Amino acid sequence: MTAPPSRFELSREELATRLAGQPTYRVDQVWSGLYEQLASLAELTNLPKALRAQLDADLPLALTPVAERTSDGGETVKWLWALRDGTRVETVLMHYDQRSTVCVSSQAGCAMGCGFCATGQAGFDRHLTAGEIVEQVVRAARRARDDGRRVNNVVFMGMGEPMANYDATWSAIERLHADVGLSARHLTVSTVGIVPGIRRLAAEELPVNLAVSLHAADDALRDELVPINRRYPLSTLMDACAGYLLVKGRRLSFEWALIDGVNDRDRDADLLAQRARSLPLAAHVNLIPLNPTPGYAVRGSPPARVRAFRDRLRTAGVNATIRRTRGTEIDAACGQLRAAHEPTRVTVSPTPRPRQSVPDRPCQRTRTVMRVRARMARVRCSLGWT
Ligand code: SAH
Ligand code: SF4
Repeated sequence: MTAPPSRFELSREELATRLAGQPTYRVDQVWSGLYEQLASLAELTNLPKALRAQLDADLPLALTPVAERTSDGGETVKWLWALRDGTRVETVLMHYDQRSTVCVSSQAGCAMGCGFCATGQAGFDRHLTAGEIVEQVVRAARRARDDGRRVNNVVFMGMGEPMANYDATWSAIERLHADVGLSARHLTVSTVGIVPGIRRLAAEELPVNLAVSLHAADDALRDELVPINRRYPLSTLMDACAGYLLVKGRRLSFEWALIDGVNDRDRDADLLAQRARSLPLAAHVNLIPLNPTPGYAVRGSPPARVRAFRDRLRTAGVNATIRRTRGTEIDAACGQLRAAHEPTRVTVSPTPRPRQSVPDRPCQRTRTVMRVRARMARVRCSLGWT
């Protein structure tokens, strides 16, 4: 017997079918109750009690809280949820002065294998469904409402690679836009650089924001930090970004996690500035010092280096901001809360680079890349990913 669909999985038409026999206005009552009022079924007192109980039994929630942590004086809330099959994912709610943002997961785990990322270190479990993604927003928005706030932004920057789960991601976006009422300009998809996904996104009607997690502006270093770069190298990725800008006319942003001695040299800033300015509309750069994770031996850049990196980008004519690290003490970065509930599986040590702008000698660089690739292959192998 197949399990009943979860509450936020159903389309409006499917809900109408389930409510056949009820007055037609019940569909509106339930739909707007769930998505606009962010109500639980128990709170929908305009429905008969028996109907509430029946819907509650027929349409279970997809997410059960395993852990909830609050930090930054209540400004950051993070949930670790168990899905109905026991898989675990995370959601973060962040309150700022004028707005509240929910950071959602699009997959349980991730197959992209970025060594610095707690989600990447743990490997891939499964794709999330559109309903599981939407429910993360609804549950967080309900909490925001209870705190007297309103969620106005959703970023796909939690666990997983949204472009590797494109259909569910897109149908969640349509639901958030049409039913929860979030403007497309306040929805941001972050990708590690899956080029076909960027092209599909460019062809969609809703003009959502695109964030590209760059982290390195030359292929050798990016191959090491973000293994998918071997499939979609920087030239292809930059073409797709330019295509997105030309179609959408919207600035995109580059995400850059600053890793001490690895991608925070002056030379890295100069290369990044070149890449950002090569686009039809210069990219905005978001800098964040790397959050420490259990499986990665190198730390984030020190604050003075982060500021120097930002200033160098600005001097080169690129808009750059330093993102405040939220909830470090509650493991609020991608995949970290889940990692804290599971044993550490492996530690990767990237190759520190010389701090000064020293021109790379090709043979040394090639040897380094080969060494790192071999190490990554051993790591993947030990995790059973290959
Ligand atoms: N897979 C997508 C979205 C999820 S990751 C992507 O990679 O873009 C969301 C962001 O968190 C990405 O920019 C990612 O590079 C960044 N990130 C992952 N681990 C991090 C860490 N330890 N410290 C800082 N940022 C990290
Ligand atoms: Fe996946 Fe993004 Fe983490 Fe890379 S940074 S492993 S793409 S979630």
